[in-house]
Parts: sequence; structure tokens; C-alpha cells
Amino acid sequence: MADQTQQTIVVDGLALAQDIRKQLAEEVGQYAAAGKRVPCLAVVLVGDDPASASYIKGKQRACSQVGMEAIERHLPASASEQDVISVVEELNRDDAVDGILVQLPLPKGISPNTIAAAVDPAKDVDALHPSTAGKLLLGTPTLAACTPLGAMEILDRYEIEIEGANAVVIGRSNIVGKPVSLMLQSKNATVTMCHSKTRNLQEICRQADILVAAVGVPRLVKADWVKPGAAVIDVGVSNIDGKLVGDVDTEGVMGIASIVTPHRRGVGPMTITMLLRNTLTAYRARTGG
Ligand code: NAP
Repeated sequence: MADQTQQTIVVDGLALAQDIRKQLAEEVGQYAAAGKRVPCLAVVLVGDDPASASYIKGKQRACSQVGMEAIERHLPASASEQDVISVVEELNRDDAVDGILVQLPLPKGISPNTIAAAVDPAKDVDALHPSTAGKLLLGTPTLAACTPLGAMEILDRYEIEIEGANAVVIGRSNIVGKPVSLMLQSKNATVTMCHSKTRNLQEICRQADILVAAVGVPRLVKADWVKPGAAVIDVGVSNIDGKLVGDVDTEGVMGIASIVTPHRRGVGPMTITMLLRNTLTAYRARTGG
């Protein structure tokens, strides 16, 4: 049994997201009031995966909530890689589009890396273009991946000290694990990146002052994986019999972690909010506004 002495704060990612969106709405409103066009996000959906369609709707709703424009390009599941590239190139040329997001996963036969490389880096709000990812590696200012940005914003708003902290990231994907590791390192954390071949994962996690789980294995991180006082960011989302479950046993870490993000209303709302912020950043860079 863990020593239940720590008061654990459950992060309210939704409230934080709404706070940031209010600020974004004010900034977008100033452009509209000045008679300028508002920022525009283009989302590309290939196929009819209901989960992807629902994510896209959520992103479009979020855009309209802050006064941004959102347009959608929908291609059938039978679309070829070249069909998708052609749509992306058309959006690249469209001056009224500031951000382009191609919803993943893509149907078999279409390489996500090839599609990511087709997006104009100036409009790369998902930050998957090689030049965008390379800039993050080099520490050059750039658009950056939304979920890692959201996780970093949570750590910042909840005043978690990053400098000098031992940060452990479980997962090494291009969209979450790698970029969040780089962001933590750039803030002077000592970062260990773990994956499916890591030995002694539990012991490594036990050393973490900041633990980020981006795996997709339900409740992988148990109470006895967490150092007392650690900040725990649960990125994972798995669907178990229609119920969404995170990578962390949230109940189990109560009384041990200093903060924990719940699998609902945690990192998720922040991800979409960072997409909005990236779109505004891209708009400003493109228009000089
Ligand atoms: P991914 O591409 O599948 O990567 C998963 C990573 O976890 C891989 O690096 C994999 O290792 C590692 N892994 C798998 N099983 C493991 C195990 N038993 N022990 C240790 N490491 C293990 O997934 P992703 O795109 O990064 O997403 C991760 C999770 O976050 C998913 O549940 C996804 O749905 C969720 N997500 C949530 C949001 C949000 O906004 N809330 C956004 C993005 C993703 P290998 O590299 O060795 O295969």
C-alpha cells in the first residue's frame, strides 16, 4: 500500500483550455474588428472512419468557438496518395488558408510521412513536416506538435518545476513521445524516453519527477510506478468496450502524485486548443499581423 500523504490535484484540462480559448477569441476578434480576414484552418479527412470524422467536427467547432474559419476537404477511402497530395497542394496555394491538418490515421497505402512532407511548413499546424520536426530538434522557433504543447502548458500552469527535474516519457512517437521529450529537455529537464523494448520500465518510472505516459496501453502506469510528489501527465486514450481509458491508473495514483491529468478533460481539450493557437501563430507569421 502506498503512503497516502500527498494531496493530488486532478488537472482540469477543460477549464484551462477554455481560459486559453477565451484569450484566443479576443485576439482573433481584434483582427475581425479591424476588418481583416480571420485565421483559417483546413482539415483534410480521407475515408469514413467515424472516430476521425468526430475529431474533425470537434476541431471545426473549436475554430468557430474562437471566431476562426474552418474548411474541410473530404476524400473517399478509395483516394490515392496522389489525390491527397493534390488536395494538400491546392490548400498550400490558397492564400486564405493558414493551417493544414490531415487527419490520421490514413487509409492503407497512403504514407503519413509522404503526406506530412507535402504540407507547406508555414501552414504545418500539426508539426509533422520534416523541417518543422527538425527545427524543434535544433531548438529553432517553430510550430510544434499540439499534444506535447498542451502537456507543457499544463505543467506550466500548474507550476511544476521542470528545470533539473527527472522527466520520464513512455512512448517515442513522432506526434507525442519524441516532441514532448525535446520540449522537456529544452526546459532543462533530464529526460529518459521509454518504449516497448525498455527494460525495468517500472523502476525507471519510479525515478520520475515528471512522468508522461503516451502509450495506448490501458492503465499501464500503476500506483507503485509513481514517485511520491511526481507530476503525472496521462496522454493515452484506449477504447475498452466503448469506455475510454487512459494509460494511468488515475485512482491508484491519487495520494501519491502531485498532479495527474484525468483521461477525460485532461490533455485532450488542450490538444485542440494548441491547434487553434498554432493556427493563429501561422496566420500571424504569414500575414505579418
Ligand atoms: P503510438 O504511435 O502507437 O506510440 C506508442 C508508443 O508507446 C510507442 O513508442 C511504443 O513503443 C510505446 N509502447 C507501446 N507499448 C508499450 C509498453 N507496453 N511499454 C512501454 N512502451 C510501450 O501512439 P501515439 O500516437 O504516441 O499515442 C499514444 C497514446 O496517446 C494513444 O493512446 C493515443 O490515442 C493517445 N493520444 C492522445 C491524444 C490526446 O489529445 N489526448 C493525442 C495524441 C495521442 P515502440 O516505439 O517500441 O513501438
